[in-house]
Amino acid sequence: METNKELQEYIDIKAENRKLFSPFPEFDTEVTPMVTPSEIIGYTYCPRFLYYMNTLGIPQHEELRLKVLKGRQIHRQREKNNPNYLRKNPECVKKDVSVYLASTKIGVRGIVDEVLYLADGTLAPLDYKYTFYTEFIFKTHRIQSTLYALLIQEKYNKPVQKGYICYVRSGNSLKELVYTTEDFKKAINVVEEIFQIIQNGYYPRRTRYTNRCIDCTYRNICDKF
Ligand code: SF4
Repeated sequence: METNKELQEYIDIKAENRKLFSPFPEFDTEVTPMVTPSEIIGYTYCPRFLYYMNTLGIPQHEELRLKVLKGRQIHRQREKNNPNYLRKNPECVKKDVSVYLASTKIGVRGIVDEVLYLADGTLAPLDYKYTFYTEFIFKTHRIQSTLYALLIQEKYNKPVQKGYICYVRSGNSLKELVYTTEDFKKAINVVEEIFQIIQNGYYPRRTRYTNRCIDCTYRNICDKF
């Protein structure tokens, strides 16, 4: 991916829009409104799920939270056992571990498990997920990874063209993402809609996948329309 002028302008416009309703837009402090990975996952599961989770203060799906914690725990253990390990595929020359990333311009904060320095001079996010790989799950993680790519690019001022997700319960299967400008725009639009939900109380559309309603935490209060 190249941070082309068009994409940068797109990010700037969205950041300006956010300033209209954000009281602390310039700095990354504890009270700066920013989207977090759990909100992104909640949104991709179902936008209305995020509405209930945040706006009404009803706790999120415990299973989701535990999977995130378990993934992080496994990653920490791996680092402890073998801190100098560098991947051969993709070929890495260096890595940073558990990197805090935040951008008031993009409106996102989070901790990426690894930032890989690839042999071709670009950087790439790598995240460990304590779950099985499916095409479907991969799609939900794609937006999170794409946002990490934007954050890394801003923090390190280096190009980010690819990202990786390691699915621990599928034998550490490593999946590669190749980002496009459209991916970045889509991810930025998701952030914008999440802000509308969590800050403005916007009541979003429901998921298209109605089978998710069957065991949803909020099925008894959701109007399903
Ligand atoms: S019941 Fe269905 S539409 Fe409502 S929040 Fe849950 S998944 Fe979304």
